[in-house]
Amino acid sequence: MIRHLVSHTIPGQLVIQYTDRCNALCPQCGMRRTEPFSRSKLIMDDAKRIIDAAAERGVQALSLTGGEPLLFFDEIIGLIDHATGAGIPYVRTGTNGFLFMNSEHPDFECRISSLIERLARTKLYTFWISVDSAVPGVHEMMRGLNGVIKGIEKALPIFHEHGIYPSANLGINRNIGGLQDTAISDHQILYAHFWKAFRDFYRIVDNMGFTIVNACYPMSVEIDAAPTSAVYKATSANDAVNFSSDEKHIVFKALFDVIPEFRSRIRIFTPRSSLLSLIRQHNGDVSSPYACRGGREFFFVDARTGDTFPCGYRGAENLGKLWDPAFPRRSGMEPCTKCDWECFRDPSELMGPLRDLITRPVGLFSKIVKDQEWLRLWYEDLRYYRACDFFNGRVPPDMKQLERF
Ligand code: SF4
Ligand code: SF4
Repeated sequence: MIRHLVSHTIPGQLVIQYTDRCNALCPQCGMRRTEPFSRSKLIMDDAKRIIDAAAERGVQALSLTGGEPLLFFDEIIGLIDHATGAGIPYVRTGTNGFLFMNSEHPDFECRISSLIERLARTKLYTFWISVDSAVPGVHEMMRGLNGVIKGIEKALPIFHEHGIYPSANLGINRNIGGLQDTAISDHQILYAHFWKAFRDFYRIVDNMGFTIVNACYPMSVEIDAAPTSAVYKATSANDAVNFSSDEKHIVFKALFDVIPEFRSRIRIFTPRSSLLSLIRQHNGDVSSPYACRGGREFFFVDARTGDTFPCGYRGAENLGKLWDPAFPRRSGMEPCTKCDWECFRDPSELMGPLRDLITRPVGLFSKIVKDQEWLRLWYEDLRYYRACDFFNGRVPPDMKQLERF
């Protein structure tokens, strides 16, 4: 961290979309299996070359995503080993959970144990499993994966026995608290709806046996960034995930208000200082957020071409192959806050002040003096991250540490 800060950067992050193939039906995603586009997958050797180039550039965190990455289980295992061998310590991957279907079948435990054993032999840092709703039937209907919730519940103790503590990954949508087929226009009712939905969600995933939970912010982009330019097809025009800026302001506020009640029970990855910035941004205060590091230290590699982009959204800015010696150190675009992609926005917010400490200490001092609420939340987030072992998905939660929150 110190080495990066002295060179005026923050530790790098790379999201590699290994494939855009998927076997699920999520309405909130352009890669669902019914979408008629020709599917791709990276060539394994190219993926390794990208990882090597990333390690050389100081990337510390790598996400292997999809589509559904575990459709190519053996290759993902190989890439995790390759990345950790190349010196990237924080390697993440996950699943929509399709492997946990048919859990009543007599060979379920044996089949799942052998997959988990293989994951456990790697140095994988975080493993995520998607959960979209506090209501199991709604999650399964959205994903098109029948019986998957029961299977996840059966699989979690097996993960824990093998020293893997998966994270429940919530993609924020209108159905979190149950199927919501009529729009809520009244803002107070919308707040109350999401406040209850987030509470129900945290309770349910805690009861299921998860010990870590993350929230992926709505994958809709702002009006000035055409959704069609997104290279990562995880965007969708579906109402379930499309929120106006006014609505996002309310949804983020509800999440912000619910988190403190559950921080002592389950490790909640979502930093409240980042939510505060997003709440303010969607309330018109554009000076509040730290600019996203997408295109600076954070990049996205697309499964179709293997090319690199500043992020999954800025598809018009193809930066070429990461291993190319002419690869730009950073993209020329101005600091960006065009979307709320938590993978890039949350770490940008958390590390922004540390970077300011070196690059613009006077600016940081003035922010601290002017904005005590943000300072308190940011400091508390850092303390909480520490209490959560920095969300190390290979260790159980330290409940004594969490009790302090
Ligand atoms: S959200 Fe994930 S699981 Fe669902 S369709 Fe998209 S890629 Fe597949
Ligand atoms: S805020 Fe970050 S992730 Fe979103 S469009 Fe800008 S650079 Fe990309």
